[in-house]
Amino acid sequence: MTLKDYNKYGAASNQLQKAVLAGKISHGYIFEGDYTLDKVGFAKAFAKAILCESEEGGCGKCPVCLQIDAESFPDLHIIRADGEAGKGNLSIKDEAIVTLQSKMKLKPAVSDRNIVIIQGADGMTVRAQNRFLKSLEEPVAGTVVMILSENAENLLPTINSRCVKFRLLSERAEDCEAYGLPGEIAEMAFDKKFFFDIKNKLDGEIKDKEAALKFLDGAEKVFGIFLREGNSKFSDKKLINCINMIEAARNDIRRNVGFKYVLRNLVLSLEEA
Ligand SMILES: [Zn+2]
Repeated sequence: MTLKDYNKYGAASNQLQKAVLAGKISHGYIFEGDYTLDKVGFAKAFAKAILCESEEGGCGKCPVCLQIDAESFPDLHIIRADGEAGKGNLSIKDEAIVTLQSKMKLKPAVSDRNIVIIQGADGMTVRAQNRFLKSLEEPVAGTVVMILSENAENLLPTINSRCVKFRLLSERAEDCEAYGLPGEIAEMAFDKKFFFDIKNKLDGEIKDKEAALKFLDGAEKVFGIFLREGNSKFSDKKLINCINMIEAARNDIRRNVGFKYVLRNLVLSLEEA
């Protein structure tokens, strides 16, 4: 699987591929998404894009890509949580983090990067997270850490602030009834329809916090599609800006800011974008 195969998870794969091609790779990432998503597969696809021997970046066929798939690439370090995803009982032993950190201190063996994947990071204790923070603050050059989480709010703010966060969207968002609405709202905002028309439509269709979060997933997906396929009304830069605003709105709702207030502000900012 290459990053392209994960376009179904929204805009993240495309943005990461662009970052690789532009040589703008950060040292820390959080890939957030629900337990049904193959986040390890996604992270490995990103690792392939970074380390692949072919020019296209992430061919999936060269020896490096094959070793990453098999998790036998010497500079790839994956730790997995115990417990069952989605059940809220993930745990990562503190010792596993200590062992990982000792590996991260070493120079990469065969490439120019140590790539670290932490699966089920929601299961890290606060102590383990604080310990791991040091590795994020003072990484060996070339290190790329990918933290996989069902909800990044389970991670310390200090970890969040040191990583670039991407939310991976559930494929199920495609089937959900709310999916048509985000597209409609986006079009209305682009066409500079009256704010009150849009607000009334939202008020009529979104009745609770869950529906609001679902709407935002759908909206991010719609903007991701615009970004991938090009949109005559908005530049890439503006679309990325919109995706960031949606992300901020989602965080506000999770922090229990009233969903109506958040959505209204979002529509206003989309219109101004
Ligand atoms: Zn390859």
